[in-house]
Amino acid sequence: MNAISRRDFLQYSSRLSALLGLGAGAVPELAQALENLATGAAPVLWLQGQSCSGCSVSLLDSEAPTPAQLLTQYISLCFHQTLSTATGHVAVDTVNKTIARGGYLLCVEGAVPAGMPRACTFGDEPFGTQLLRAARNAKAIVTVGTCACHGGIPAAENNPTGSVSASEYLLANGVQAPSIAIPGCPPHPDWIVGTLAHVLKFGLPPMDQAGRPKAFFGRLLHDQCPRFADYERENYARELGDEGCLFKLGCLGPITSADCTVRNWNGAINNCIKSRAPCIGCASKDFAKRTHFPMLTQNLSGTTGGR
Ligand code: SF4
Ligand code: SF4
Repeated sequence: MNAISRRDFLQYSSRLSALLGLGAGAVPELAQALENLATGAAPVLWLQGQSCSGCSVSLLDSEAPTPAQLLTQYISLCFHQTLSTATGHVAVDTVNKTIARGGYLLCVEGAVPAGMPRACTFGDEPFGTQLLRAARNAKAIVTVGTCACHGGIPAAENNPTGSVSASEYLLANGVQAPSIAIPGCPPHPDWIVGTLAHVLKFGLPPMDQAGRPKAFFGRLLHDQCPRFADYERENYARELGDEGCLFKLGCLGPITSADCTVRNWNGAINNCIKSRAPCIGCASKDFAKRTHFPMLTQNLSGTTGGR
């Protein structure tokens, strides 16, 4: 296994600093934060509840020097259900020992089946109970992904498990640890690693009222969209694949705060709008809920039918 050099840390920190809007002066400090992650000075415990593991997969899909390298080879990742090799009682013991030591950053992926606790268990323990134990000893909590932040797909209407977001569950059970929300289905890997580095070196990042880092979620997607000029001219796409603003095809960019159109995904190659698909609002709090539908329906009416 190759160690990450100081030069690598500095190179990666330059990029992190830019994406966090911190400027060149923050580069050495961010490099130090990443080194702390790598050397175990900043342990991370990653728990998964009702999730598809897509947030973890997204994180591992990042670019060089990869957050995946940091997380799988160098970061002091105490436990991660998808990435750790431990299973059975070894896994349970590992998590319990980590919780007993305390002082870790807790990353939570997935929702909590509050109405049917045994629908999601770790060992014999319901996930909700495990989450509360882990949260009480955490230095800070990062809810990763829309399921953990807002309930997402598991908490969509008529779900039989009474699923709620991890944030809501923690609040309802009196857990007060500082927490940061990184929504997205899945979230961009930059959003996760950038936030962790900021927490370690500078403390909580500047956040909006929903607890999201402003560096990533401070503006509406709509306001940063390359098709915004089309929107203003009312030059609407009528079918998928058309040029023009995708509003009439149900684009939820006007109600979704995220920087996808600027940051781009998959090695900064593409994003939903650029690939001519409407934003489905995966980072918004109402993602997968009925409240999203009226806007979609309203936008769609009179579009394809009038063609
Ligand atoms: S495509 Fe979507 S995000 Fe872009 S300008 Fe149109 S409505 Fe806004
Ligand atoms: S453009 Fe919208 S749907 Fe696509 S990843 Fe970003 S927030 Fe999610």
